[in-house]
Amino acid sequence: MPELPEVETIARDLAPMIVGSAIVGARTDWPRIIAHPEPAIFEEEVRGRVVEGVGRRAKWLLVALDGGAVLAIQVKMTGQLFVVPADAAMDRHVHLVLDLDDGRQLRLRDIRKFARVGLYRRGEGGTILGADGAAELFAHHGPEPLDDGFTVRRFRGRLRARRGRLKPLLLDQSFLAGVGNIYADEALWRARLHPLRSVGTLRPADERHLYEAIRSVLAEAVERRGSSVDDYTAPQGDGEMQDHLEVYQRTGLPCLRCGRPLRRVVLAGRGTHFCSWCQRLPAADRPGARAILHAPVRPPGARRAGSGSAMERAAATRRAAATRRAAAATRRAAARPGPRWTELAAGEGVVGLRPGEGRGSRRLHAAAEPLEGAGAEPRGGAGVADAGQPRAGGAGAAEPNAGGAASTERDGGGAAAREPNAGGPPGDAGWPPAGAR
Ligand SMILES: [Zn+2]
Repeated sequence: MPELPEVETIARDLAPMIVGSAIVGARTDWPRIIAHPEPAIFEEEVRGRVVEGVGRRAKWLLVALDGGAVLAIQVKMTGQLFVVPADAAMDRHVHLVLDLDDGRQLRLRDIRKFARVGLYRRGEGGTILGADGAAELFAHHGPEPLDDGFTVRRFRGRLRARRGRLKPLLLDQSFLAGVGNIYADEALWRARLHPLRSVGTLRPADERHLYEAIRSVLAEAVERRGSSVDDYTAPQGDGEMQDHLEVYQRTGLPCLRCGRPLRRVVLAGRGTHFCSWCQRLPAADRPGARAILHAPVRPPGARRAGSGSAMERAAATRRAAATRRAAAATRRAAARPGPRWTELAAGEGVVGLRPGEGRGSRRLHAAAEPLEGAGAEPRGGAGVADAGQPRAGGAGAAEPNAGGAASTERDGGGAAAREPNAGGPPGDAGWPPAGAR
């Protein structure tokens, strides 16, 4: 699903193509794509208006029209926008056509018909008035993470007003606008923070790392025209960020920092990719995480962790060069003794989908009703049960958080120093991560 960088790319592509053009006609074969106003009124209201600019807010594309109107487009999961000559071949997935005065058309194509388009009025100070003409359309959206005014101080303030765990929080558009599944996973990996980490356990350094990670990964993705996974493409072509993602859809492949296989769990229905070594869960968070994460469930058709979908395999192929870089680290890591103490689930898991599930329910769940199809098998003992064990060699005292929250920074540095790739200053050995350098 297009996130901030993808929608930003669409906006930047579209601007030089349509600014200055007048819309001389509009029609749709799928009225539900018009969110506001009624389709007939929409077609009438949009006609004759000149495009003054193209921008973005959150995951919405905003086409400013003359007369104080704005066309707000949500491409959602599979929407694509193209500007083509009117006689260009049409396919049955084009559901909205805006005729431009120079003989071209702006076409919205959407295989799954989730895209939505609305015609609204612009209010004071760049606001957009919603369907009732009064409330701000984006009243419930958080700030733009790439805005100059979005400082680490402001980010901290918002974080500290929240509870809960990092991954769901990053996906919450009222917390931060524009971050979705791909860049939430990437930012957490860059910041070395576990997706199930609770906000309350973050230290000031963690908050800063997360802030920098979110901004750096989004900025890099904008630079690379977004990630063309699934159906995303922009009016002037695909992005290339998919070739530079460090965890997303790399399940089972070596972590580019430590060489250990990357994990995937399902959190609130979203695939979540992380490194259980680099992104450790503090002791205080483990019981809660264990209650959320129950027995790993293997999706139907999957052989082992790492096999993934055809798309994941394709992504894996593109990442072959980067993988080779990590291969040496993998071999060293394989020789290291001791359990991975932050392990939550060895492969697939399901998080937070059913109230009341958690400790004690795994056997029942795995036997009677696997969530993701047949072939599920519990991996007893592989979960957080191992988490509290010190590593072989009595390194328990070096565990992050072993001595309480205040010690994590120092201990995190110790952990980094044990990693095969650690060559830099403790704690910041991988910062910025490889892809950002
Ligand atoms: Zn790692």
